[in-house]
Amino acid sequence: MTETNKEPIKASEIDPKFKYELSKMHGGEKLLRCFQCGTCTSDCPVARFSDTYRPRTIIHMAQLGLKERVLNSSTLWLCAACFTCTDRCPQGVEVASVIRVLRNLAAEKGMAPIVFKEQATSLLNSGYAYKIPELRIKKRETQGLPPLPKGNPENIRKSLRGVKFLENIEKEEKHEQ
Ligand code: SF4
Ligand code: SF4
Repeated sequence: MTETNKEPIKASEIDPKFKYELSKMHGGEKLLRCFQCGTCTSDCPVARFSDTYRPRTIIHMAQLGLKERVLNSSTLWLCAACFTCTDRCPQGVEVASVIRVLRNLAAEKGMAPIVFKEQATSLLNSGYAYKIPELRIKKRETQGLPPLPKGNPENIRKSLRGVKFLENIEKEEKHEQ
């Protein structure tokens, strides 16, 4: 996974069907309306503090069919899902939803950042997104605090059945055993 690749684009990288595939997905329907005005980037609170995160560029890459580049880009994961871009886009492009669609595709292909994979693994195994350190559990006891509620990973596995990202993680787990 890399920051948005700034190498010149090669024709062989372009998947002309990609934008149409995205346009059929929930949230991606209005992708083709984007005329690159830049409002989404100028109003994005994350772009304000990042030298690399530009929602307009993400939308442009998706329109151009730069599938591998955009799915591999680490900046895709910086979106805070605040929906400011969606609210302000003069063309009605659901920018935040397009980014969600792209993230889902990246996750299905195993291209999610390691931190999300670790969180998902913890969720599937303990019911908590973060493994709670033993030290903290003991400290609670010494402070007279009640034990933390037990996580229910079985129910989580059941309710998330069909989510490819998690299925891939389960497969990886089995492979490692
Ligand atoms: S605000 Fe809308 S039209 Fe303008 S660049 Fe962003 S997505 Fe495209
Ligand atoms: S939803 Fe994401 S891309 Fe849109 S304004 Fe918020 S942080 Fe930026």
